Amino acid sequence: MAAAKVLFSGAVEGDLPGLFKKVEAVNKKNGPFEALFCVGQFFGPGADTDEPNDALVAYVTGQGSIPVPTYFIGGFGAGSHAILEALPAAKAALKYLGRSGVTVVNGLNVAFLDGTYNHALFTGRGEAPPPSPVCRHYTQDDVGLLKSQLKALEGEVDILLTCEWPRGLTTGLQGELPAGYRAASAGSNIVSELVALARPRYHIAGGEQLAYARPPFAHRDLGAGQRVTRFVGLATMAHPGKAKSLHALGLTPAAAMEPEALGAVPEGCTPSPFELRQAKREADELTAPSDFNRWSGVGPGGQAKRPRREAGAAPAAIEGKADVPRDPWATVVVKNLPWAAGEPEIVAFFAQAGKVVNVWRGTNARDGRVQHFTHVQFEGREGAEAALRLHDTDMGGRRVFVEPSTAGTAGMGRHARDADGAGGGGGGGEAGVAGKPVDGCWFCLGSVAADTELVASVGEEVYLALDKGQITPEHVLLVPIDHHPCSVALSAGCFAEVERYVSALRSLYASLGRELVAFERHLSLRNKGGNHCHINLLGVTPAAGRRAEEAFRSAAAAAGYQLEHIPAPPRGTGPDELLKQLKTAVGGPDSEYFMALLPDGSRLVRPLMRGERWPMALGREVLADLAGAPERAAWKACALTPEEEAARVERFKQLFKPYDIMAGEE
Ligand SMILES: [Zn+2]
Repeated sequence: MAAAKVLFSGAVEGDLPGLFKKVEAVNKKNGPFEALFCVGQFFGPGADTDEPNDALVAYVTGQGSIPVPTYFIGGFGAGSHAILEALPAAKAALKYLGRSGVTVVNGLNVAFLDGTYNHALFTGRGEAPPPSPVCRHYTQDDVGLLKSQLKALEGEVDILLTCEWPRGLTTGLQGELPAGYRAASAGSNIVSELVALARPRYHIAGGEQLAYARPPFAHRDLGAGQRVTRFVGLATMAHPGKAKSLHALGLTPAAAMEPEALGAVPEGCTPSPFELRQAKREADELTAPSDFNRWSGVGPGGQAKRPRREAGAAPAAIEGKADVPRDPWATVVVKNLPWAAGEPEIVAFFAQAGKVVNVWRGTNARDGRVQHFTHVQFEGREGAEAALRLHDTDMGGRRVFVEPSTAGTAGMGRHARDADGAGGGGGGGEAGVAGKPVDGCWFCLGSVAADTELVASVGEEVYLALDKGQITPEHVLLVPIDHHPCSVALSAGCFAEVERYVSALRSLYASLGRELVAFERHLSLRNKGGNHCHINLLGVTPAAGRRAEEAFRSAAAAAGYQLEHIPAPPRGTGPDELLKQLKTAVGGPDSEYFMALLPDGSRLVRPLMRGERWPMALGREVLADLAGAPERAAWKACALTPEEEAARVERFKQLFKPYDIMAGEE
């Protein structure tokens, strides 16, 4: 079969006359082309239910000339609803591909997903946008349908069309990134997953304000040979800088190609960025928090506790439902279940507390052994509360133990946690003795490992230091002088001092036209005396400040976590009152958690349940994105010489002096 000549266009945004004029010219010069595929928003700005304008209607009735048969996604925008309804019956050479699926055009297998990611709509949680009759945002059903069609597909995907770029497209890529591309926040993880699954020969996407052709990347050989994807991102037609919005290809259908040609790896080909990302994520999960590697150059390396052998048949793993967002507050941890209890028995037993929506018992990532505890998630939080009252009651002849899902996570250590048996954990505190300096702890001021050069202000119980790999020159850490695991475990006095420093920094940032954004993560460690509390703080522009909440939320959502919003404490709230609230919000002082502080003083919180793994780099990636420097999320991009560091500390001290709560006491 000969190569099919096809054209692709970025977002048309309602300018069909403009599109077809351009296509006609290209067609005359380099054609004839057999098909035109449009990605990105096809209709103009406005409501989906608007009346379509006459120019649009003309293409449906056949009065407008369509030079090349045209297939589009991005079927939303002004007049889209009426046009999409009229098109199937019309004889126009204009076809809407649909919400999602795989179709054949001129012998080419074309997979497509219309719409963009919307967190509330996709997860069914939070405030969803008003309903639309067209596919403005795809749903889990749309993605599920496409995935099942991809799995059932015989042969290869020639073309994948989406209205979003895949998140992480440039991961692992050497050299310059395309100008204006925000690697940490651009695109969607759903699309990345689809690319990894579909392994298309070409992925054409719209949705960003730029055009970019990535060097080709190779997918892992899954048995049928290597596959290579070429990504082409197309700008909107109306791009002010005239970035490329049209792309032409001569494409022989995979079905007509020799296997060797199909698996050929071109020069300059890179590994798949999505597999790299996945591998990196897995590696992150298996190593200690980067702080410890970074500061001391030594990994944890401690021997994990050997899992205890239990007599009798091992319980089976239960996968749980992937489409139910996990909610620590609606979930309990159950131990000592009867061996024979499977999901139906567990659901039946806990029905007396409330409606069970999910049950999962995972396997240990390292040795594949089944966990000795089971998570049971209820429809509402009352269910979990009621379930706690079933603690130490009889189920099938055994006493079952029921605990809050976050209880004691901090006491279990990051790495030995999964191996802990039924008797493990339970809030034993972290390995170190809180308050005593810990050898080798970078944050203990008294320890030899401490980098005291970076300290900018020392209070009574708290100090302020520049981050070792600053994202911006005002990126600092607040750290208790003594070795405490997290801010909610601080004494009232120490916490109050943290709050005073935060408010001083807020004033400093305000003087620079910036707003304060911060985060803290408490992931416990078994060695080094456990985690030493440190809060990352940064000043961002008001515009970035406004999108901070969404940035944290979507980064967390991409990792499968939903953040809980804690409103700003009312004026006059004392630090001890706030400390009490936060302690409850994170699931107690012995819970692991992630907490972000937003410019308005409100917080986003997610306590971690047993067996959950928070992405190590998440907080830093969001800060770097908000600071407009996503490339600085990587530590190594931020390394300074000791002289540069000293100069930065000096400069920051000068800047901070008018606000320093310790100023004048020297
Ligand atoms: Zn320490």
